[in-house]
Amino acid sequence: MTLKSKFSILALGLWLGFISSAAAQQPREWIAQHVILIGLDGWGAYSLEKADMPHVKQLMTAGAYTLKKRSVLPSSSAINWASMFMGAGPELHGYTKWDSKTPELPSRVVSHYGIFPTVFGLLRDAYPQAEIGYEYEWDGMKYLVEQQALNFSKEIINHEKPDSTISVACNYIREAKPNLFAVIIDEPDHTGHVTGHDTPAYYETLHTLDGCIAQIIQATKEAGIYDETIFILTSDHGGITMQEMETPFIISGKNVQKGLIFDESMMQFDVAPTIAFLFGLQPPQVWIGRPMKQVFTRTF
Ligand SMILES: [Zn+2]
Repeated sequence: MTLKSKFSILALGLWLGFISSAAAQQPREWIAQHVILIGLDGWGAYSLEKADMPHVKQLMTAGAYTLKKRSVLPSSSAINWASMFMGAGPELHGYTKWDSKTPELPSRVVSHYGIFPTVFGLLRDAYPQAEIGYEYEWDGMKYLVEQQALNFSKEIINHEKPDSTISVACNYIREAKPNLFAVIIDEPDHTGHVTGHDTPAYYETLHTLDGCIAQIIQATKEAGIYDETIFILTSDHGGITMQEMETPFIISGKNVQKGLIFDESMMQFDVAPTIAFLFGLQPPQVWIGRPMKQVFTRTF
């Protein structure tokens, strides 16, 4: 073997090694480097027409949305947050009560984290270096995500919220520049239960939440990641009767269509596959949700 052919074999080996490690670590380019999901508990889509939420409406104009994302039944909290993160309904993930901490019905599949697979665990498994955060106000949220998959997990107790929730979220964004960060706020559902949905107090709360969302957007600018961020605003369920079943799904930012109101059917369990698609993740076979690919500007 000549020196030249030895060199060629070495080069080929390096090249193949590079290709296979690139394929294993980075199946394809991410649509955006940062995804911030802001969940408002009990935010019915019907409310947007009357709501004074200028920053949310700005995201709607600058991005894509549907006001017809449907909850799964029964349309209450843990069941729907689980479905949103887990890409499947209660028949598969097994969380069937408003406050389920463990599935009443055995999960069809349990991952190595010990629960039905969510998009958080999926991202962690594909990208060990990813920065993943999760913040919530209602303690029931902690059971619905693989806590071991998170770099940052924070529960904000009652007397501190919502200002503390937002300042913690903004600090985390500025310091850690997360790839995936979900902030789940326990309003306007609380106001909805105390004074009623679709009431002046409910709209007052929505206006306050709009200011919270503005602060989170501002934090991404201060972190220098705004141009590489996609914001998702959504909810677990709405108010009463049919108003309870339809929630907004608003997505805005890098590589997202501008001014698109999409009419394709979207279910609660389509949220996780949409986020997974954005990061180029292969969804588990047990997921039944579909990615809303039409909201993006390019096919990836
Ligand atoms: Zn709820």
